[in-house]
Amino acid sequence: MKISRRNFLKLSGLAALSGTLASKLGCAPDEPPTPTPVDPTPIVDDPEELWIQYAQTVHSICPICGVGCGVLSYVEDDSIVAVDGDPDHPINEGTLCSKGITLYNMYYVYDEKGDPVVNNQRVTKVLYRAPRASEWEEVDWDWALEEMAQRIKQTRDDFFEETNEEGVTVNRCPAFVWLGSAMITNEENYLFHKFCRAHGILNIDHCARL
Ligand code: SF4
Repeated sequence: MKISRRNFLKLSGLAALSGTLASKLGCAPDEPPTPTPVDPTPIVDDPEELWIQYAQTVHSICPICGVGCGVLSYVEDDSIVAVDGDPDHPINEGTLCSKGITLYNMYYVYDEKGDPVVNNQRVTKVLYRAPRASEWEEVDWDWALEEMAQRIKQTRDDFFEETNEEGVTVNRCPAFVWLGSAMITNEENYLFHKFCRAHGILNIDHCARL
């Protein structure tokens, strides 16, 4: 049934009037229950007794996806004791999604009793596997960065193509493949994309296609 605006207002007035009459005649429905007042007593009497009271707060970025939410890690005795969203971060303003809120579990695994223990599988050093080698070896950052720079330069020098077979300008280097990472932010991915274009890299991919 189509109701005009005028009829809608008339019906609304009638409904309000009949409600008032019913109330006066004592046949109005029961009043809705009064909500239980919220107990204003703080859960923790003394905020100084919070379990992170002795922890150092470290500002960081969630490494799980390219949104790049701000994270506060609470560190005590070189161990993370809690993780929370950073309320001052402009992207997430203190919130974390269901993945980000479990960041704590990237640092720990659980033993057979269900107690958290530091995850010793985390890669914390630079590992290098030489061509045709079967084992990884630990190297330092200075060596790794220098080696990467040398190889990128050599590959570009050897394989850069200014024109294709028809003489059309292409400025490309098909010998490179670049894989991005969801563990870097949108802005970092933007810079990496610029880096690829400057080097003529065409083969670019990323698990989230950023
Ligand atoms: S995984 Fe969640 S908390 Fe982490 S950056 Fe992405 S959206 Fe933010």
